[in-house]
Amino acid sequence: MDTLLNEAPCGYFAITDKGLIQSVNQTLLTMLGYDREELLERHIESTMSVANKMFFHTYFYPYIQLYGQVDEMYFSFRTKDGKDLPVLLNGIKRNRDGNAVIDCVALEMRKRIEHEKDIMKTKQQLEVLYQQTNEANHRLELLHAQYEKKQQELMELNERLEALASTDPLTGLKNRRYFQEQLQKYTELSEQTEAAFSLCIADIDRFKSINDTYGHPVGDLVLTRLAQLLQEQSPAEAVVARFGGEEFVILLPGLDQEQALAAAERYRAATETTPLGDLRITISIGAATFAAADTELSLLQQADQALYHSKNNGRNRVTHYRD
Ligand code: GH3
Ligand code: MG
Ligand code: MG
Repeated sequence: MDTLLNEAPCGYFAITDKGLIQSVNQTLLTMLGYDREELLERHIESTMSVANKMFFHTYFYPYIQLYGQVDEMYFSFRTKDGKDLPVLLNGIKRNRDGNAVIDCVALEMRKRIEHEKDIMKTKQQLEVLYQQTNEANHRLELLHAQYEKKQQELMELNERLEALASTDPLTGLKNRRYFQEQLQKYTELSEQTEAAFSLCIADIDRFKSINDTYGHPVGDLVLTRLAQLLQEQSPAEAVVARFGGEEFVILLPGLDQEQALAAAERYRAATETTPLGDLRITISIGAATFAAADTELSLLQQADQALYHSKNNGRNRVTHYRD
């Protein structure tokens, strides 16, 4: 064998039709760990494991008989000390000196196979990671949905609490706390913009005698019905509230002195003419209108003084503070 082939950077061997080794180069001998004499005239299958012998029988021989050559066949030799030697095998059938010979080259594949194993392993790890990510995402979505539901519930609860905190439980009107907030808001607004707004305090005339005559529950019913009436008679933007006991306050945005007096008169007249339950009652009203120097307190005091005036002048009447 010439030196170039003997020392070529791939294994070379030639076998007969029956598989007997005719020649083998040093590279393959080194790969397998044999001396040349140990392999010449031996069967090529003596360098294979049982499984690879069967593979060789099933693919290599039939293929080479049929097509005259085999390209890129993966399989493993067995080295002299019993280790697997993965190779890529090319074979070609020739006729030399009247005899059929199969020339083969074998390229060691260890690195590539290890590389492929690494790739497979990484791929499997990626698949596991991908699945874990999917599951985590799914859990996150569920949690997010739960969170949104809880947040919605909390918002609804807050709204209910807020409504409760600003509502008078007997009449369903706004309560004194809410009214004070609104009064502050409108006072600040009017200080800045000089927008007009007015205030009415309405107090039921001789309400004590209704309680005394018909009992407290009837008194409560009268309070509730009057609350309804005042609300119905008020413009949408008005803040109608129970100030305490049998006193109601109405904040009237945009109304000047004259308009406030007219509104107060409307409340008074409607109350006088509308039976509440089976009873007829009257109310006295004091009105006040915001002016530049006013505070929340001064405005309330003015309305209260006007109310006092209405009470002292025979009840069932309205008085504006400036009158
Ligand atoms: P005036 O015309 O001077 O306002 O006489 P009045 O009787 O209406 O006034 P007074 O302040 O003497 O009495 C108010 C009454 O209102 C006494 C109290 O029992 C009653 N009252 C206060 N809050 C309630 C309530 O929530 N329900 C009932 N039924 N009565 C109430
Ligand atoms: Mg009173
Ligand atoms: Mg009263």
